[in-house]
Amino acid sequence: MDRYSATRLVREGLRGQSGWRPVWRRASPKPRYQVVVIGGGGHGLATAYYLAKVHKVTDVAVIERGWLGGGNTGRNTTVIRSNYYYAESARLYDFALRLYEGLSRELNYNIMFSPRGMITLVHSRRELEGAARSVGAMRLNGVDARMISKDEIARRIPALDMSATARFPVLGGFVQERAGVARHDAVVWGYARGASALGVDIVENCEVTGFLGEPGRRIDGVSTRRGDIRADKVVTCVAGHSTELARRAGFELPITSYALQAFVTEPVKPVLDVVVLSTASGAYLSQSDKGGLVIGGGLDLYPSYAQRGGAASARKVLGAVADQFPSFASIRLLRQWAGIVDVTPDSSPILGAAPMKGLYLNCGWGTGGFKSIPAGGWLTAHHVATEEVHDIARPFTLDRFATGALIDEAAASGIVH
Ligand SMILES: Cc1cc2nc3c(=O)[nH]c(=O)nc-3n(C[C@H](O)[C@H](O)[C@H](O)COP(=O)(O)OP(=O)(O)OC[C@H]3O[C@@H](n4cnc5c(N)ncnc54)[C@H](O)[C@@H]3O)c2cc1C
Repeated sequence: MDRYSATRLVREGLRGQSGWRPVWRRASPKPRYQVVVIGGGGHGLATAYYLAKVHKVTDVAVIERGWLGGGNTGRNTTVIRSNYYYAESARLYDFALRLYEGLSRELNYNIMFSPRGMITLVHSRRELEGAARSVGAMRLNGVDARMISKDEIARRIPALDMSATARFPVLGGFVQERAGVARHDAVVWGYARGASALGVDIVENCEVTGFLGEPGRRIDGVSTRRGDIRADKVVTCVAGHSTELARRAGFELPITSYALQAFVTEPVKPVLDVVVLSTASGAYLSQSDKGGLVIGGGLDLYPSYAQRGGAASARKVLGAVADQFPSFASIRLLRQWAGIVDVTPDSSPILGAAPMKGLYLNCGWGTGGFKSIPAGGWLTAHHVATEEVHDIARPFTLDRFATGALIDEAAASGIVH
C-alpha cells in the first residue's frame, strides 16, 4: 500500500499526479476462503480489516452486491457520539468513538473526523428532568456529557429561535463535546484500502443469493450471482437486508426494515459548528465542510425497501427545522434520499453467532450504526477469529430476545421510533 503523506502530496503535485494507484484492489471471487463477509458497508469492511490486521486472518473476501458504501454507510448523516443511557451501550459506543478518534492515523486515510460537539435541545420541564437523569447515567458510565444552559445554547447556536414564543421553546439541553461527524465515504474507502492492502479480496457487483450447507444447521459458504464460494465462516453485515438473508439461511431475525431519510441543502457560509438534535421534533442537523446543512429525523414508520422515503416524514422533519431555525427556511434543498435501516425491538444491535454453525451476525444497528462501525468491525472480527464473544459485545447477542435481557435504547437512539 502506498503511504499517504505531505511529502507524497508534494511529489505527486510535481509529477502531474501520475503516481497514485487505485485505493483498493478489485478482486474476482475465488472458489474458497477462510472467511466470507457479506456486505461492503462500513461494518463489513471494518470486520475484514480487523480480521486481517489484529488477528492475521487474511484469507477473507468481502462480497458486495452493488458498490462499496452504496448502502446505509454512504447514505447516513454521519453523527458520531456515545451519549447513550445504559452502561452496555455506553461501553460499546464509547469504544467506537475512541477508535474513531485515532482512525485517520490507524488507516493512514483522512476520514475527516470532526469532534465538534453535539447539543441535544430540551423543550419541556419534564424532558429537562429526563435529560438530567440521562446525563447522570452517562457520566457514571464515563461518557463526557454535561447539562448546558439556555445562555450557552444561544451563544453556541445563534441561528436557533430562542424566543419565548418559539414553536419549540428551548429550556436547556445537554452536550457531548467529543461527539461529531466524519466523512462517510472516507470511512468506507479507508477500511477498504486497509483491508485490501492486507490481502483481503473485495468483490463488488456480486449479490449473495443463498447459503451452502444445511440451512438451519450449518453454513459452508454462499451462493452468489458469480458462482458458489465455500468458506469456513460466513459473516453477514447487510443492515436492512439482514432478515432476507437470515430467512435464506433458515432462521428469523427480530428486525424490521424501515426507510430513514436524509436531506442536504445548497451550500451556505458557516452558520452552525455543532451537531444539534431536538428531542421534541426528532430533527437534527449539522453543517458539512462543503457548507450544506445535513438534516435527518425520524423513521418512515412503515416497513419498506424503497430508498426514497415518503413525503409525510420529509414534511415533518423539514418543517421542524424551519420552525426552529427560521432563517434556514429560505435555504433551498439540494438532495434527499433514504436508506433501509434494520431496527430491533430494543433499538440495540445484534452481534454474535447465528443459531447455526458457521454463521456470524453483525446487524440491527438501525438508525445509529455509522458511529459504531469501528467497534462493530472490531468486535465481530474478535468473535470470528477467536470463537469468543468479547465482553463488550456479550450483552448484544441474539439470545437476549429469548432471555428478555433487552437494552432498550429507543430514547437514546436519538430519533423517534
Ligand atoms: C438517512 C440515514 C441517516 C443515518 N444517520 C446516522 C447517523 O447520523 N449516525 C449513525 O451512527 N448512523 C446513522 N445511520 C445508520 C447507519 O448508516 C447504519 O447503521 C450503518 O451505515 C450500517 O452499516 P452497515 O455496514 O451495517 O450497512 P450498509 O452500509 O447498509 O452496508 C450493507 C451492505 O450490504 C450489501 N448487501 C445487502 N444485501 C446483500 C447481498 N444479498 N449480497 C451482497 N451484499 C449485500 C448492501 O448493498 C450494502 O452495501 C443513518 C442511516 C440512514 C439511512
